[in-house]
Amino acid sequence: MLDAHHFDNTFARLPDVFYTHQSPLPLVNPELVSYSPEAAALIDMPSLEGIKSELIAVCSGNALCPGTEPLAMVYAGHQFGGYSPQLGDGRALLLGEVRNKAGEKWDLHLKGAGPTPYSRFGDGRAVLRSCIREYLCSEAMYHLGIPSTRALCVVTSDTPVYRERQERGSTLLRLARTHVRFGHFEYFNYTGQHKALKTLADYIIDHLFPYLKGQKNAYQLWFAEVLNKTAKLIAQWQAAGFAHGVMNTDNMSITGDTLDYGPFGFLDSFDWQFVCNHSDHQGRYAFGEQPDVSYWNCGRLGSALMPLFNNQPDTLQEALNTYPERYSYYYTLFMRQKLGLVLPQNSDDQLIKQLLSALQHSQCDYTRFFRALCDFVPGAVNHALTSVVDTRPMAQWLKTYAQRLQKETVSDTARGYQMKQVNPKYILRNHLAQQAIELAEGGDFSEVERLMLMLKKPFDEQPDNAHYANSPPAGVLQVQVSCSS
Ligand code: AMP
Ligand code: MG
Repeated sequence: MLDAHHFDNTFARLPDVFYTHQSPLPLVNPELVSYSPEAAALIDMPSLEGIKSELIAVCSGNALCPGTEPLAMVYAGHQFGGYSPQLGDGRALLLGEVRNKAGEKWDLHLKGAGPTPYSRFGDGRAVLRSCIREYLCSEAMYHLGIPSTRALCVVTSDTPVYRERQERGSTLLRLARTHVRFGHFEYFNYTGQHKALKTLADYIIDHLFPYLKGQKNAYQLWFAEVLNKTAKLIAQWQAAGFAHGVMNTDNMSITGDTLDYGPFGFLDSFDWQFVCNHSDHQGRYAFGEQPDVSYWNCGRLGSALMPLFNNQPDTLQEALNTYPERYSYYYTLFMRQKLGLVLPQNSDDQLIKQLLSALQHSQCDYTRFFRALCDFVPGAVNHALTSVVDTRPMAQWLKTYAQRLQKETVSDTARGYQMKQVNPKYILRNHLAQQAIELAEGGDFSEVERLMLMLKKPFDEQPDNAHYANSPPAGVLQVQVSCSS
């Protein structure tokens, strides 16, 4: 499927303080659950027919592609506010880095590949439900226009894995521009390996921020870029109604991509306090907390980078102080797009705030509200809206919105069309993922396939899939997901 000449394993060329060489532990009786041709195209993979058996062998740890040099990366991280001095790839391996014809480099990362020196008390495995969730969501995020790692395929097996019950050992083949996280820098700073810290920063700048290379204040500029990308990503999450669930610094990518899908959740009804992670008893990672948490996480990254700034805390702090402003800029930008507002007005932030307060009060479905708002015509009877929300408590806001629209120049139809390019009809609702998982656990992978196809076109009407756009049936609203994946 891939040959040695496809690989350019730059991370494996770094000194060995960054990783441990480790081979995958094979799974028994593997079978392919699903495969994403779009993700495969990123690494110039041929069509599935010719490579299926090899792909299954590689993803189940029964074979290695020529050119791969599997390794487990070491990192640390702040988990739920407390510092964990040593984490690392406990159940995933960086198989290698593929350079595609366009010159882009993609990490090939196998999640669920068996124990590594960083597994601590874990078994190094992943179960089918968690692989399906990550597979569907990372591709869904990409098609929503939200930066994310990608997912090439899911393989399951007869290897038993024990969680609350016995489950099937499975793997996910993940693609990313890098798997370097905030937590990598924390590890090398707090273990006093400042030379390695610099090596890693230089490596990341070389490969992912090459335009900064050789500049006078390269580290400063780079930190500002990371802040900016992170602020933009979190603003996209908030605008889309996405809660990550475990925003520990070891799950924050240095390139501002959504990374490590665990107990994530999309909002059904709008709720600032939405907590999707069953283990998050304090609501640290509640939906409404994500902007503050990401700011705090950037602070942890800043502290870890201090040795690169000749221990000049002021320079770092100044950069860090720009985070809230960067976040607000992007959030307003994305919310304006969702509201079809092209000509910025000072009052827009107030309009957005009032809307969120009305949505919280009405408990209405976040995604369906915005999709219905695309068909809003001032002064008319708005059937789409009345079908998703009790418009009486929203009457004041709708009146303000109608007045605001007078400052725009496009027609209602053109605005509606534009809004439908940014307000999805289809998202990966938890109950939909759950249905697909339950069928897959019984051996029927068709629903995974169907959801995948649907999520590739989240902004299209897709009449055959219209029922997938509904809110979950009463009783399954806002289910929390466990971390034990
Ligand atoms: P996560 O919360 O999934 O981001 O994982 C946090 C840390 O625990 C990472 O270092 C993972 O590699 C590790 N980990 C999670 N699950 C397992 C497992 N089943 N076996 C070994 N390590 C794991
Ligand atoms: Mg993680």
